[in-house]
Amino acid sequence: MDFAELGEFGLIARLGSRLHFRSPNVKIGIGDDCAVYECAGDKYQVVTADALLEKVHFNLSTISAEQLGRKALSVNISDIAAMGGVPVLALISLGVPRKLTVKFLDAFYDGLDQISRKYGVELAGGDTVASPELFYINITVLGEAKKDRLFTRRGARPGDKILVTGSLGDSALGLKLLRSPRRNWSATSRDKKTVVEKHLDPEPRMAASRMLAGSDAEITSMIDISDGLVQDLGHICTASGVGADLHAEALPQSAALKRICSRNRLDCMEFVLGGGEDYELLFTTTPEDVKKITERSQKAEAPIAVIGEIVPEPGKLSLVAENGWREPIRKPRGYDHFKRGEKG
Ligand SMILES: [Mg+2]
Repeated sequence: MDFAELGEFGLIARLGSRLHFRSPNVKIGIGDDCAVYECAGDKYQVVTADALLEKVHFNLSTISAEQLGRKALSVNISDIAAMGGVPVLALISLGVPRKLTVKFLDAFYDGLDQISRKYGVELAGGDTVASPELFYINITVLGEAKKDRLFTRRGARPGDKILVTGSLGDSALGLKLLRSPRRNWSATSRDKKTVVEKHLDPEPRMAASRMLAGSDAEITSMIDISDGLVQDLGHICTASGVGADLHAEALPQSAALKRICSRNRLDCMEFVLGGGEDYELLFTTTPEDVKKITERSQKAEAPIAVIGEIVPEPGKLSLVAENGWREPIRKPRGYDHFKRGEKG
């Protein structure tokens, strides 16, 4: 079956039938001029959008249709999690080139459906158009956050501790491996799988976000790491008018990353500090509330590590070694769309 046979509306109906999650908050989903949903008075609506373009954000030779569907929705949910919010509905717009098959789109929607069910977000509409050459995905997610538990980039204060979920750098290392498949990497297939999967199939830290939003800990700022630790910490520092000290030995690294880096003479810190697309949560809290958070971090599916503290000097980021040696981190290492080429 091809697109001409299905037609635009046939295609939309076919893809819509692959989506199974229905949210009780959504009154009208796919099939009307607008989606309608009900929001509570003690909550803010939080909205985010993310565009993914073939050859810029993904490469169809390295990611499967199903993984791409999962990732496209997951990275948006990660932004909602970063505000302390819960996702409710998503709108998806696609630019579909003729080279794609109906089978590919079916699998792409199966991936979307898996994440939709897992995080309780209904795909409630969008638009599908033909694209001349490249596959284009635009997803908007709407969610809700309690008015007194909305976390933003602004609010970190000198003396606050800096914390992060999970481990850092795996995704960027996974991307490096994917980009040079013919290079003879010295790595076990299990280690390779760990870092490559973190890149292709990232998991939004919704459980950690819910735990933080549901606790009484004072979260003074939060962001999800999409552009790299240094760059995203830089966003918190800029918005809050502060600087930060990072403790080199405290930065969480997976065993797979450490092994692959040492065996292939790669600098771990480059991936940990600059690598993008970790989709971990980076946040600040008062020294008094640190224990409260780390003790509950078992419930958050990912460990939470204390990696540094906020300092008064605006924009000043330093890496502090175990022996006290301080090294200024000058330029943000991380991804910038208008400075570099292909991402993944
Ligand atoms: Mg973000």
